[in-house]
Amino acid sequence: MVLLGSTGSIGTNALEVASHFDIPIESLCAGKNIALLNQQIAHYKPKNVCIADKNDAHKLINGNYKLFFGSEGIGEMIESSHSTLVLNALVGFAGLKPSFTTLQCGKKLALANKESLVNAGWLLQGADITPIDSEHFGLWYLAHTRPISKLYITASGGAFRDYPLDKIPLATSQEALKHPNWQMGRKITIDSASMANKLFEILEARWLFDMQSIDAFIEPSSSMHALVAFADGSITAHISAPNMKLPIAYALDKNQAAHTSFIAPLNPQSLCFALKNIEIERYPLWQLKDTLLDTPQKGIVLNASNEIAIEAFLAQKIAFGQISALILAIMEQFNSFDFGSLNDLESIQALNEEVNIASLEWLKFKKSI
Ligand code: NDP
Repeated sequence: MVLLGSTGSIGTNALEVASHFDIPIESLCAGKNIALLNQQIAHYKPKNVCIADKNDAHKLINGNYKLFFGSEGIGEMIESSHSTLVLNALVGFAGLKPSFTTLQCGKKLALANKESLVNAGWLLQGADITPIDSEHFGLWYLAHTRPISKLYITASGGAFRDYPLDKIPLATSQEALKHPNWQMGRKITIDSASMANKLFEILEARWLFDMQSIDAFIEPSSSMHALVAFADGSITAHISAPNMKLPIAYALDKNQAAHTSFIAPLNPQSLCFALKNIEIERYPLWQLKDTLLDTPQKGIVLNASNEIAIEAFLAQKIAFGQISALILAIMEQFNSFDFGSLNDLESIQALNEEVNIASLEWLKFKKSI
């Protein structure tokens, strides 16, 4: 298979699952963590390697592989790989174009990069995509041919679910990066604390299951991932230990996954669930849920302003509360944009760029909290 984002949290788990299933790794792509990439090259002996920056090439170990660079290089590597499966575990908007390239090449897309569906779900809907996200895996696991009336996904609540409300706006990145249940990359950990991640997942579910009736609750143990309400009045829930190896395994090989236990089963008698509402006072971004479901193309504005805000937050230029302040201001600014005109990758890239510029401008004139 082709693995994009091999040095990240999903990427490293995917390599373990692939080894277990004897799936050869033809192509690897990573960003700046060349030390870990070198270990992966030595172990998996890929035929192709892509890194973000040409200037890092001298740090790579020698081997019998073809080398590619930058975003162009990711596309070229996908095109020249023989594998029919691409796992996209890149983070952010950078993952969008590789998703398109994968599908244009007629390959199967195992998709962890949720920003692909957030930014272009209407163009990707119906394509050969298996999502790698515990909530959407849970929905897929539950979905039957019986008519469905509503989908629910759960949220852990992130780092600030039990924080005093008045302390959240001034919280630092060290505090936001302490996720109570999951070990994940930095961006998604902060997205969990702000609830941007759950908005992204609502949009993913909208495109993957072609449903608009979707909601989310906080489930603090992260063991119940999704619920499906059927037209007959029944509700079923998907429950499993919080471990991404399970959805990754199903995305790589459904038959082997069904017979392999990557996670310890939970003891049913230890289960106790208290589903809570997502409150706007604690998670101001949650007020965007309905407008995003009405006009899901607004996900581009949410995603781009969020990426700029997170970069500034991690660089300690803004406090946690300013992430949502920036996003809400930019969403308002782009409210009258003609979202119906976004019918190809180029128009999406152009809007992404426009929102980046507006967000950077907001940062120059930001009000303090
Ligand atoms: P990480 O930050 O841990 O990993 C991101 C990967 O992308 C790294 O390998 C990084 O390389 C690579 N990368 C980043 N930028 C570039 C670039 N310009 N060119 C090439 N490679 C690049 O993120 P996660 O693994 O946590 O998440 C990946 C995606 O999966 C995200 O979209 C996330 O929302 C989604 N997801 C993650 C889950 C999780 O449990 N972690 C759960 C569900 C979805 P390097 O580190 O070498 O710089």
